[in-house]
Amino acid sequence: MPELPEVEVVRRGLAEWVTGREIASAEVLHPRAIRRHLPGAHEFAARLRGRLVKSAERRGKYLWLPLSGPEEALLAHLGMSGQLLVVDPAAPPEKHLRVRLRFADGGPDLRFVDQRTFGHVMLTRLAGGVPEPIAHIAPDPFEGSFDEVRFATALRAKKTEIKRALLDQSLISGVGNIYADEALWLARLHWARPTQTLTRPKIAELVAAVREVMGAALQQGGTSFDSLYVNVNGESGYFDRSLEVYGRRELPCSRCGTPIRREPFMNRSSYYCPKCQRRPR
Ligand SMILES: [Zn+2]
Repeated sequence: MPELPEVEVVRRGLAEWVTGREIASAEVLHPRAIRRHLPGAHEFAARLRGRLVKSAERRGKYLWLPLSGPEEALLAHLGMSGQLLVVDPAAPPEKHLRVRLRFADGGPDLRFVDQRTFGHVMLTRLAGGVPEPIAHIAPDPFEGSFDEVRFATALRAKKTEIKRALLDQSLISGVGNIYADEALWLARLHWARPTQTLTRPKIAELVAAVREVMGAALQQGGTSFDSLYVNVNGESGYFDRSLEVYGRRELPCSRCGTPIRREPFMNRSSYYCPKCQRRPR
């Protein structure tokens, strides 16, 4: 599943390839891909036609393209296997092509391809520059509007395990399972540590760790364990060598040599070093 760094790589590709272009047509090839766009495919296509893409934005794992005209945007979530591809309009349709945008300049299409169709696109109003359906989601740690003091206060008040809090989109968005484990390792925190026991300096250290692990992945073009994931130009973003704990069960911790442990967590896994990340009593 794409995580924030992969989605940011896609956003940068969209900003480069799609900004400033006029949408000539939108074709929906699978109704499930626009299931959240309640007025349906015909309305979706009619409202997109003739509008300019103003920029490419992101919050957490959501992407959106603000459009000319009314304060609206094309909002996308890639789900498990979604891809936004910039493709030669003469190229044959991809096997799992769901939505196709053609542009008035006759240049590359923007195609939404999604094998498992957990992803979706929709046209939505913007409220304060953010799409209405995601206005309740907290800023991610790379946004200028991310407020560290507010985050620390909300985190302590939540009284939950720290990893659950990192995955809670109402507190902080964009941190998935992989980067939560990596950031907790870097900050030497066990995943089950109660948030109310964290000091403000420790929370600041954790936020810095989140930024560091995701920033490093971003520089490498994103981390992904899903071979279906490719970035906006169809180039694989697969990269895993920098991971310290995730997927490294029984391998030695690079800090202390202790074998990494894996424990079940919310139908998934948590990886941690039992020596560097002491279990809370
Ligand atoms: Zn260790």
